[in-house]
Amino acid sequence: MRLRILLINPWIYDFAAFNLWAKPLGLLRVAEYLSSFDVELLFIDCTDSCTAGRFGAGKYRTEDIPKPDILQAVPRRFKRYGIGTDEFARQVRAAMPFDAVMMTSVMSYWYPGVQAAVEMIRELAGDVPVILGGIYATLYPEHGIKASGADFVFRGPLAGGLNFALATFGFKLKRKREEIPYYRLNLYSDCRFAPLLTSTGCPFRCAYCASELLSGGKCCRRTPDEVLKEVSELYYQSVGQGVRDYAFYDDALLYDADNHIKPILRGIADAGLPVRFHTPNGLHARFVDEEVARLMQRTNFKTVRLSLETTDGDRQEDTGAKVTNSDLEKAVALFRRCGFTKNEIGVYLMYGLPGQELSEVMEGIEFLKALAVKIYLAEFSPVRGTRAWNELVRDGTIDDALDPLLTNNTVFAFLYSGYDLQAVQSLKLQVKAYNGPRLS
Ligand code: SF4
Repeated sequence: MRLRILLINPWIYDFAAFNLWAKPLGLLRVAEYLSSFDVELLFIDCTDSCTAGRFGAGKYRTEDIPKPDILQAVPRRFKRYGIGTDEFARQVRAAMPFDAVMMTSVMSYWYPGVQAAVEMIRELAGDVPVILGGIYATLYPEHGIKASGADFVFRGPLAGGLNFALATFGFKLKRKREEIPYYRLNLYSDCRFAPLLTSTGCPFRCAYCASELLSGGKCCRRTPDEVLKEVSELYYQSVGQGVRDYAFYDDALLYDADNHIKPILRGIADAGLPVRFHTPNGLHARFVDEEVARLMQRTNFKTVRLSLETTDGDRQEDTGAKVTNSDLEKAVALFRRCGFTKNEIGVYLMYGLPGQELSEVMEGIEFLKALAVKIYLAEFSPVRGTRAWNELVRDGTIDDALDPLLTNNTVFAFLYSGYDLQAVQSLKLQVKAYNGPRLS
């Protein structure tokens, strides 16, 4: 009998969430891997419930849910983002019977979503083996074993380990005699947008970033031809009406641009597909040159986000030296010269970094206003295992055993930044007024 595996992307449990072209890329990769074996795949994406807005990005369906005790001090409503529990139960029943469940996890502080999904699987399908992977499982394996309810917590990238995880439960994957072409977005009944991952890893080692932990410190990338094939297949062959918006999720998309993004974009320009591109992950300003900016304009990039984080030179240097103010000024000038508007260029600025005064954030805001770009304030949230995390543990701000719920960006800034909360609120309102209406 063919093995039947149910793949699940669980709910988001948070104070705020907005879908910027996200899909569970790790889980879709698992699907792609498994599709070369004699396996029947079933799929539930609990977050697949968005009202599409501009360029397909949009708001998740939400439900207010009780706040966990540990978050009671945070004066915000806690929500479940995604499909209703009734709908989840309906989809699980429709998939039954299955031999095993493979569940992914994204933000560590969304683990209540994992717990809730595992709990419902247990109620509906009994003690079927549940294998948990993804970011939370990789960063917090011990917590995952104790708290998620899963039977097996899979740490790190897919290669090799998945067969081992299944073998633990007595399952052996059999290769298909013929490789059957399979497209991973076929798991969705309709898909107007797609995330793209052309590379993994990053040459920098920023103090607050999980990239190294998740990529194992290696930089890998796909060939330009593979990426072009994916873009084209999604456009022509995807289910529903075909993909029109693509979001690059690489950590270092522009690194070694001459050998990577430039050939990709030239190929896309030559193909002449009427599609749009977005970079919700901040780009490295220092790798933007005239040709990159021109190619991005030619290939219809509509959302260009750059990472600055802070304008303080010492902090830029201390945290990883990925960017300077003049790198950013130069990149913005190049984008402008190629015709990008204020609405299309946005820059991330962080607040709540250890030791960062609010006045430093204010300076960053003024700097970005002078460049006439959109400003995206991002709350610092510590990632376990990073240099910033270790410093916070060393100076006694947090304990290494901190509940992942407290690393939520909303919570961490609220509880640990030491900022005057009214001052933070007025800063946010100021940025909102400067940015103008939200476009995506
Ligand atoms: S440059 Fe970006 S992706 Fe790379 S380590 Fe720094 S924050 Fe992470």
